Amino acid sequence: MQNTLYVVVPCYNEQEVLPETARRLRDKLQYLINRGSISRKSRILFVNDGSKDDTWAIIQRLHIGNHFFSGLNLSRNRGHQNALLAGLMYAKDQADMVISMDADLQDDIDAVDEMVQKYLEGVDIVYGVRSSRDRDTFFKRTTAEGFYRLMNALGAETVFNHADYRLMSRRALDGLAQFREVNLFLRGIVPMIGYRTDVVTYERGERFAGESKYPLKKMLAFALEGITSLSVKPLRLITGLGFFIFVVSLFMILYNVIRWVGGHTVTGWASLSCSVWLIGGLILLSLGVIGEYVGKLYMEAKGRPRFLVQEVVDEQD
Ligand code: UDP
Ligand code: MG
Repeated sequence: MQNTLYVVVPCYNEQEVLPETARRLRDKLQYLINRGSISRKSRILFVNDGSKDDTWAIIQRLHIGNHFFSGLNLSRNRGHQNALLAGLMYAKDQADMVISMDADLQDDIDAVDEMVQKYLEGVDIVYGVRSSRDRDTFFKRTTAEGFYRLMNALGAETVFNHADYRLMSRRALDGLAQFREVNLFLRGIVPMIGYRTDVVTYERGERFAGESKYPLKKMLAFALEGITSLSVKPLRLITGLGFFIFVVSLFMILYNVIRWVGGHTVTGWASLSCSVWLIGGLILLSLGVIGEYVGKLYMEAKGRPRFLVQEVVDEQD
């Protein structure tokens, strides 16, 4: 095998964009093959993540029409991260380098040229980083950037403004395969792999067609997943907070004892009830955070498969 590229594209209900995405990716692949940067065995691998629409039928048609297109059909919807992992784990045995990108053409396909170039120069992981978020809504921009800052403050190393558009060499993917966690947050795990890394910047556009498959609820769940599956810092913060409150309460007791010795009547039941509420809230919060980790331990202990492949269409010549 020589410089074989697989482009992995997870798809969930993407029938509106898929034909256009396929067309543009095919042209890109053809261009790179003609230029001699990648081998003829390169493929575009669509991973159907249990779509409810015609996505899989379209992928099958694409495959029949052109052997550049391959498909992986998952047994059911498992979410973006798991679908992506399924594609990466399949592709790593076929390819020398794998690029992951979304189906909606938000990631600039032309950045692929530069990624491949860097791979040829010996880089193992090339991160696609958005140069600006001008085209995002104010809300999406501030929440997303706040999320990256929070992640880094909490000790989870992520690449700023990098989503899942990246190139990984076979060696890096073999490394990724050894991370056996079920709570999957790829953009937190990939930086842990190491090797030579580089960055390619690109403008992120708007979704070509269809709706975002990441509504606010999924986004929040994803952020929580990222923080709790990568870092134990929240636990430590709680411990620190608990200790601080304990010290404060010691001073409060001392103060009250002095007042009692001085013969003053006890006043201020309001502050008392306030502190009861405060402590109650803190205990609940702490329990919640601990529960979060216990839940994760529970899931990891089960060791369920992260995805199941139902069908593969991939022409190997
Ligand atoms: N996706 C997936 N499974 C899901 C949800 C999304 O495979 O359960 C795919 C989707 O088809 C797309 C990518 O993940 O290729 C990113 O989703 P989307 O563009 O909707 O997210 P956004 O860009 O709005 O954050
Ligand atoms: Mg998108």
